Amino acid sequence: MKEIVILGSTGSIGTQTLEVIKNNSGLNVKALAAGSNIRLLLKQIEEFMPETVCVYNSGKALELEKQLKAKDGVYRHINVLSGMEGLTECARLDGADTVVAAVTGMIGIKPVTEAIKSGKDIAFANKETLVTAGHIIMPMVNKYKVKLLPVDSEHSAIFQCINGQHKNRPAKIILTASGGPFRGMKKEELANVTPADALKHPNWSMGKKITVDSATMVNKGLEVIEAMWLFGMGLKDIEVVIQPQSIIHSMVEFKDGAVIAQLGTPDMKLPIQYALCYPERRYLKGERLDFYKIPQITFEKPDMDTFEGLGLAYKAGEAGGSMLTVFNAANERAVNMFLNGRAGFTGITRIIKECMEVHKNIDNPSLSDILEIEQDVYRYIESRF
Ligand code: NDP
Ligand code: MG
Repeated sequence: MKEIVILGSTGSIGTQTLEVIKNNSGLNVKALAAGSNIRLLLKQIEEFMPETVCVYNSGKALELEKQLKAKDGVYRHINVLSGMEGLTECARLDGADTVVAAVTGMIGIKPVTEAIKSGKDIAFANKETLVTAGHIIMPMVNKYKVKLLPVDSEHSAIFQCINGQHKNRPAKIILTASGGPFRGMKKEELANVTPADALKHPNWSMGKKITVDSATMVNKGLEVIEAMWLFGMGLKDIEVVIQPQSIIHSMVEFKDGAVIAQLGTPDMKLPIQYALCYPERRYLKGERLDFYKIPQITFEKPDMDTFEGLGLAYKAGEAGGSMLTVFNAANERAVNMFLNGRAGFTGITRIIKECMEVHKNIDNPSLSDILEIEQDVYRYIESRF
């Protein structure tokens, strides 16, 4: 039995992970963690009976504990944790094999590094953590000999394309992007788009933050950096191509010019299941591609003048060090402000740009440097915008 901990079980990736676990033998839920949604967490507890749960919000954790105590015997033994301590304790639980990192944002850094130190394999969705701390995480993965299995669909696609290639390193990674709901629009048109407009992704149903990131193309920027860390590629060898139908999930070019792609319907359960069952491929219920019904697959160059987030990500990636934290933290806060009506859509990249311009880059930041710089960025934004 593979024992699984899900950090972010009530989110889009978390709930789909639970569906995958339900439909597969040999996978068991050891622990679940969420931010504050105890209503859904309680339902998940009733269905999957984890030994341990964590609710980041301590008030909600107490509430959940009370509700569990009021139920019959078995529920009283569930260990309820809270806060960052609780999250990291879940991540390093004895007897757990795989930690699914599916929280949103760089809040995942500590739990993920603790999980690796405890020898857990990581099914990795939480890209913000890898973007900011890749220089710490990747050497740890080697040192503690754990597997870092990508869940992000593009990175899972690349991982699938390079499987079986032995020592043939890819010459180039071609990350595909849908282009988001505003593809084809110009800057002036973007000035007045609302959160409701941005939350309508054409092909994927995901959490709010990543959906806004897809609309600004910051998501693709984060993914470029994620690919840089995961596959040890130079930025100049990672190319972004718009493929609006989201059929090709990404491609790899080898030095002889051969290109290998992974295709499929847009369903996150495939990369999740592949990461949880790796290296085995198992049956997955759902639609299959019907090539007779696909009229065309088209490609475009990304419009980096309009969607500045992608170019800023390449800049942050080239600078490396703490600039990656600034890029990510500024985006996290700016997206939040956009969703709460405190910033406009084009304000998101404006805020990121300004934060990057004023930052004095530090090479090789430690974990505590990263967390400190994150707070500095939040304070700067608070004082300026
Ligand atoms: P959601 O917003 O849907 O879910 C986020 C999850 O994290 C929720 O369970 C939330 O709990 C939990 N959470 C938030 N803050 C904390 C905290 N402080 N402590 C513990 N748990 C917390 O996000 P997604 O599932 O869409 O995305 C998760 C990650 O996966 C992101 O990094 C995203 O970029 C990445 N990803 C997502 C894809 C997708 O299809 N959704 C595709 C590829 C990558 P609560 O519900 O209680 O707030
Ligand atoms: Mg993706």
